[in-house]
Amino acid sequence: MQLCFATNNPHKLQELQQLVGNQIEIKSLQDIGCFVDDIPETGATLQANSLEKALYIKNNYSISCFADDTGLEVDVLNGAPGVYSARYAGEPANSANNIKLLLQNLAGKKNRKARFRTIITLLLNEKEPIFFEGIVYGEITTQTSGNAGFGYDPIFIPNGFSCTFAEMTPEEKNSVSHRAKAVEKLVIYLNSL
Ligand code: IMP
Repeated sequence: MQLCFATNNPHKLQELQQLVGNQIEIKSLQDIGCFVDDIPETGATLQANSLEKALYIKNNYSISCFADDTGLEVDVLNGAPGVYSARYAGEPANSANNIKLLLQNLAGKKNRKARFRTIITLLLNEKEPIFFEGIVYGEITTQTSGNAGFGYDPIFIPNGFSCTFAEMTPEEKNSVSHRAKAVEKLVIYLNSL
């Protein structure tokens, strides 16, 4: 089976291909001739954004596809940065600035509980959209640690671990991550067809 993953993020493509194994061939946007820098995402929720991105590909390129949208939701910030995670510190999107702002906003806070939440939207042939959710709970550190991964990885310690996502191997991160959990549900569904 061939499926396009509607993302321009090479880290995510790599993670995804590792997660789904060989029975599903993941096509990148470049593979299908789509060279837009940013697929529009104007929704107010993770689900609306992932649906919007998947529909963009389905409608313009007529290929079965899926898209994801992820947010880091921090308890004491009432779920912020959430759907605005990529551009928390403003345009252009910059992870170092996002991390700096988040650490500033959490300065002195004891409760540092947070979660990453991913919603994947699958658009398969003529079927209605199907949604898959994955969540990992953890906490935000007071300073960055590690160089692996991307985004907020250097300041997120998943529950049950003592190191950040950015200090883990890709395999360790994939064993617990939000995206891995959502993808696992996606793969189970695809294998059941
Ligand atoms: P996206 O919707 O998956 O592109 O995610 C939005 C933003 O959330 C990204 O720009 C990153 O800042 C952050 N993010 C998403 N997934 C991860 C992850 O696995 N680790 C760290 N940050 C992430």
